[in-house]
Amino acid sequence: MVPEVRLKLPAWVADQVGDPSRRFDSDREKMALAIALASRNVAEGTGGPFGACVFDGGSGRLVAPGVNVVVPAATSVAHAEAMAILIAQQRLGTHDLAAEGLPPMELFASAQPCIQCYGIVWWSGVRRLVIGARESDVESLTGFQEGALPERWAERLADRPPLPPVEVRTDCLREEAREPLRRYREAEGVIYNPGTA
Ligand SMILES: [Zn+2]
Repeated sequence: MVPEVRLKLPAWVADQVGDPSRRFDSDREKMALAIALASRNVAEGTGGPFGACVFDGGSGRLVAPGVNVVVPAATSVAHAEAMAILIAQQRLGTHDLAAEGLPPMELFASAQPCIQCYGIVWWSGVRRLVIGARESDVESLTGFQEGALPERWAERLADRPPLPPVEVRTDCLREEAREPLRRYREAEGVIYNPGTA
């Protein structure tokens, strides 16, 4: 037997995403989808309170949605941002979202990426990262830990020659992005920090 990894998003994601040809015109529209995915994931009980989307920054079309499926998929890797980037790269058939010939790719995350997702963003080839809720929102509203991110992590992404810069925007629809975090706590969702359950 050859080991193989399979990960999938919950079945409701297709319904939440809707028309795949839709063009998203603004950061707020794009973030609203990431937040809607996070909220639905809480409501459906299919994972942690996080959503993320990779968009084609040229056309405004969705390339890949993602939600947190850590517990159902039985892997600590399956954060929303990781799922969105994995799916985008598999769909486009490349490990490098900054590859020649591709439009600039953007990652929208309903909450600030953790230490793992920071690394995933670093190597992914996305050219822009837009964040909803802050690290302090995640930690205070849910109890999830974000891990030891480097000092000045956003500046490091934005200035890292010879790699292409990743522009970072924070606090996009922050208040709306805090909602799924609150609801997850109210629903007593699993806080799956390692070794603490
Ligand atoms: Zn993460």
